[in-house]
Amino acid sequence: MSKKYQVSSDGYYGDFGGAWVPEMLYKNVEELQANYLQIIESREFQEEFRTLLEEYCGRPTPLTYAARLSKEYNTHIFLKREDCNHTGSHKLNNAIGQILVAKRLGKKRIIAETGAGQHGVATATVCALMNLPCIVYMGEVDIARQQPNVKRMEMLGAEVRPALSGSRTLKDATNEAIRHWIANPDDYYLIGSAIGFHPYPDMVGRFQSIISEEIRAQLKAKTGKETPDAVIACVGGGSNAVGAFYHFLDDDSVRIIEAEAAGLGIDSGKSAATSILGTEGIIHGCRTLLMQTEDGQIVEPHSISAGLDYPGIGPLHAHLIKTGRAEVVPVTDQQALDAAFKLTRLEGIIPALESSHALAALDQLTFKPTDVVIVNVSGRGDKDMDTYMKAMKDGSTTH
Ligand SMILES: *Cc1c(COP(=O)(O)O)cnc(C)c1O
Repeated sequence: MSKKYQVSSDGYYGDFGGAWVPEMLYKNVEELQANYLQIIESREFQEEFRTLLEEYCGRPTPLTYAARLSKEYNTHIFLKREDCNHTGSHKLNNAIGQILVAKRLGKKRIIAETGAGQHGVATATVCALMNLPCIVYMGEVDIARQQPNVKRMEMLGAEVRPALSGSRTLKDATNEAIRHWIANPDDYYLIGSAIGFHPYPDMVGRFQSIISEEIRAQLKAKTGKETPDAVIACVGGGSNAVGAFYHFLDDDSVRIIEAEAAGLGIDSGKSAATSILGTEGIIHGCRTLLMQTEDGQIVEPHSISAGLDYPGIGPLHAHLIKTGRAEVVPVTDQQALDAAFKLTRLEGIIPALESSHALAALDQLTFKPTDVVIVNVSGRGDKDMDTYMKAMKDGSTTH
């Protein structure tokens, strides 16, 4: 458990974080702040959480030694297989944790925001499991381009409500969800990444920390040593990354590497490279790095992967980057596509486009032949088959 990078009692990681919410939300936010730790740390919560992770989610997920990939990069690469979770990514870890918190707070309805629909599907899934009504806000543009996930949510019994303001994508869906919560304070807002106001970044981080908890035990069993030399994860809001890094943060011998979406290139005006292009400001109730114009308007992000298409970054990551604890590697759309085909051909694993950013970072890093490197494969690529098929048809990938 990380000590040095633990959130402060008022919700800060260094200069970043906090709870910059409208007065109308104080009561809700304070209720959650006052109760979440006690709930999460209780024995009966932990028992129910861990049982669901095992019996429902399919944990522990494997730690796979990638022999051919290791040979290619002349080092030892292990893949943490979050793609093996029920619903296809790490997102269900957090959704399970938060629905159990909501139940203990006596909440009767769940709301969520979603971009590509992965978090919406995870939330609709746990709501079906727990028999709670579910409303998912989704940008109208995203609804049009992510129909399979919209249909999944509907089949699971959720109501998908279009966000019609702004660019009609993820940040607008988040705004709508916050607006809904102000009007319906008895609902529970289930946030999908390590973003937003305190205590969400910390709570989501704790639920996802199961990833690095398992990595430690699995590495020990396989290599005799609990710590790797490096851990690589992609960052959208930063939930799979915080999960993969969590139990290694205090150990300075472990390199922490964040792969960020550089879209068409850092200088192209079409990227989501928040930590490189971002400046300090407030987004969705949190002080962090975000992409904004000089007068504070949010710049629309771009990435080939919908899950990395967020104009901000979780406050812990802003802190890790600013203090130099984490290294950032920008990865373009094309590099991510190439990495997806490389993993598929070398290891027989089709990764999500988000995870492909973490894999592509390997090309920009150097490791010793004796190093042990973990790459977090945050999700599987089924949802990205249209993009992959198009790349094969155009011949636009080198593999
Ligand atoms: C949503 C998603 C991400 C990005 O979200 P984080 O909170 O940064 O982890 C990454 N990978 C997959 C597979 C996703 O579904």
